Amino acid sequence: NHLKKYFPIKGALFKGNAGQVKAVDDVSFEIYKGETLGIVGESGSGKSTLGRTILRLMEPTDGEIIFEGTNLEKLRTRQLVEQRKQMQMIFQDPFASLNPRMRVGQIVGEPLAVQKMLTKAERAEKVMDLIKKVGLTKEALTKFPHEFSGGQRQRIGIARALSMNPKFIIADEPVSALDVSVQSQVLNLMMDLQDEFTLTYLFISHDLSVVKHISDRVGVMYLGRIVEIGDKKDIYSNPLHPYTQALLSAIPVVNFENERERIQLKGEQPNPSDPPAGCAFHTRCPLAFERCKLERPNLMKQSSGQLVACHLYEDGTHNTKDTSEDKI
Ligand code: SF4
Ligand code: MG
Repeated sequence: NHLKKYFPIKGALFKGNAGQVKAVDDVSFEIYKGETLGIVGESGSGKSTLGRTILRLMEPTDGEIIFEGTNLEKLRTRQLVEQRKQMQMIFQDPFASLNPRMRVGQIVGEPLAVQKMLTKAERAEKVMDLIKKVGLTKEALTKFPHEFSGGQRQRIGIARALSMNPKFIIADEPVSALDVSVQSQVLNLMMDLQDEFTLTYLFISHDLSVVKHISDRVGVMYLGRIVEIGDKKDIYSNPLHPYTQALLSAIPVVNFENERERIQLKGEQPNPSDPPAGCAFHTRCPLAFERCKLERPNLMKQSSGQLVACHLYEDGTHNTKDTSEDKI
């Protein structure tokens, strides 16, 4: 709810807004139990920071995080530790996130040992069970991370995350470091585990094909804000925000009948420490008009179902006003 995470810029000369990056800037959305919400955006859009802030791995600058009716902000440290067990993270680089000196059995069982949950024997049994659930064999338990392929290491990371019986998992680019052929195996594993354990996922990725594969709903981020969010089928078949349209037009399509014209965006994503005024996308938007430079559009529900932050759709329908006159 109105989540913000601002970072001070090191060595900034000015106090106040000039000296901070608004990595997450007033983001609100819901995640429903058992679903996968995909978050897409270019690097620097704030999606990783969003994930870490939701799990309170970073303190939010402002806003609320409500988990099953509990405002995490209000919890004291002990309660937060308890609550955090239900919320786990899977990281992009399975190698960097696994301790190279620990054997896999220890790695997967470590969260349980730290929390002093279960006896040693129960722990061993649970670890064995988890290793099988993620598609590895008991021989894996005595090996070290470097003895595994990238896909297998991600399976180990998933087993470790599952050891706490979480309800909610944030996966930050979990398959981006993997070969394309291995990606779908790991995604399918995540989907199977979701069914088996009634998991809820926030799935962060820059890759729209990957997000399409796994998500029920999708949110698109640009410079710290959500510009469009809704059901996957609406976002992919009828993208409304010009940024979503541009992102989707860049995905190669196999079926020629559906081929979209590729929309070329002007320039690079602006520096997040100095985002453009008005609609932050106006410097690259092919449809920008005068008002876009001045006023920031809010997310608004559209008749087609999704929420969009763009002046072209202000009143819930496509604004047919001819903006070609004051086009910028
Ligand atoms: Fe483009 Fe204006 Fe819509 Fe922003 S508000 S996406 S600049 S048309
Ligand atoms: Mg990232």
